[in-house]
Amino acid sequence: MVNWPEIDNKYYMQTIVRDPVTIVRGKGARAWDDKGKKYLDFVCGLAVNCLGHCHPAVVKAVKKQVGTLIQTSLWYYNTPMLQLAELLVKNSCMDRVFICNSGLEANEGAVKLARRYGALKLNGAYEVITTFDSFHGRSLAMTAATGQAKMQEPFQPLPAGFKNVKSNDIDAIKSATTKKTCAVMVEPIQAEGGVNVPDDDYLKKVREWCDQKGILLILDEVQTGIGRLGALFGYMLYGIEPDVLTLAKGLGGGMPIGAFLAKEKYAVLTLGDHNATFGGNPVTCAAACATLKYVIDNDVAGNAREVGKYLMSKLEGLKNKYSFITEVRGRGLLVAVYFNSEIAKSVVAACIEKGLIINRLKPNAIRFIPPLIILNKHVDEAVGILDNVLSGITG
Ligand SMILES: *Cc1c(COP(=O)(O)O)cnc(C)c1O
Repeated sequence: MVNWPEIDNKYYMQTIVRDPVTIVRGKGARAWDDKGKKYLDFVCGLAVNCLGHCHPAVVKAVKKQVGTLIQTSLWYYNTPMLQLAELLVKNSCMDRVFICNSGLEANEGAVKLARRYGALKLNGAYEVITTFDSFHGRSLAMTAATGQAKMQEPFQPLPAGFKNVKSNDIDAIKSATTKKTCAVMVEPIQAEGGVNVPDDDYLKKVREWCDQKGILLILDEVQTGIGRLGALFGYMLYGIEPDVLTLAKGLGGGMPIGAFLAKEKYAVLTLGDHNATFGGNPVTCAAACATLKYVIDNDVAGNAREVGKYLMSKLEGLKNKYSFITEVRGRGLLVAVYFNSEIAKSVVAACIEKGLIINRLKPNAIRFIPPLIILNKHVDEAVGILDNVLSGITG
């Protein structure tokens, strides 16, 4: 039996404390480890495999495309890329798409676009306002955008042009706005930063402020997009439309892909401004087309909404039972449970031991980001395992 953690320890950059499981196979909401043990996977590629592991629609599309044409570069037209662009535009409030490979790349593209807009229309304004506890990616610029000191400090100096302000606080955005501001970038719900659900009218207020100032509203829906919150895109739940939208995680049904989209008026990137060698890759785009079609045709977002409500209600039940659970929060199938002490690591390890893969969000919080196709019975199973684990803890 190969000892994979040992190989990891010897050869891999040690930037992440991994949870104790080597996943070798997956199907739907199930995963298997290298010893043949079966799990219920409520992380599923970190909110990526929105249709579960190896969904037949995604596998079929990838298999077909991978035997036909794997890569072309953006210097040529390719059909999966253009089909995906059309699908995204027809199903969102956006007019133009650029397809890249990850969330941070999508956000970088969005910020480049906002800076071009600032240069052309706002007297050279270039600053982007973002919020504390946000997460926008791990490049140097997106680290500057990500309002978390612990991620920024080791990498100083960071690129200029980002102002981090208090989240869920429209006045903080207002007082940070100057003549140099070209955009505000926020997540509908801060996901990595703690599943922080803002006030219902927060996004509307941010929208109104951006309109009033003529600056762009960039919505980072890398995690919340593609049905996660119970609507195809999170903005649909808040009665607003962003000017620029970024997507990644769920978009490819497991394949690595990102996209930034803009309304026509703001789609100001022009010839030579942007490119990406792997952008618009036919295989990842074919996977994304299949995923998006399946999500739309089967109202997967509606399922996430309903099963999400059920999950929250079951977790509220646990909260009533265990005094060391301080909060259950989230929307759709993006949900966190908070504890009054730093027990997340041991809770996650015990869940894995009992066959549930779940995410350690913070030292004192765990996150549920299951595939969006799960049913109430999967929730019963997961919450049952968690209940069992928590019953062994003296809070
Ligand atoms: C995961 C995430 C990113 C970064 O995506 P990568 O593909 O890891 O670069 C950016 N924004 C949000 C909201 C995310 O959840």
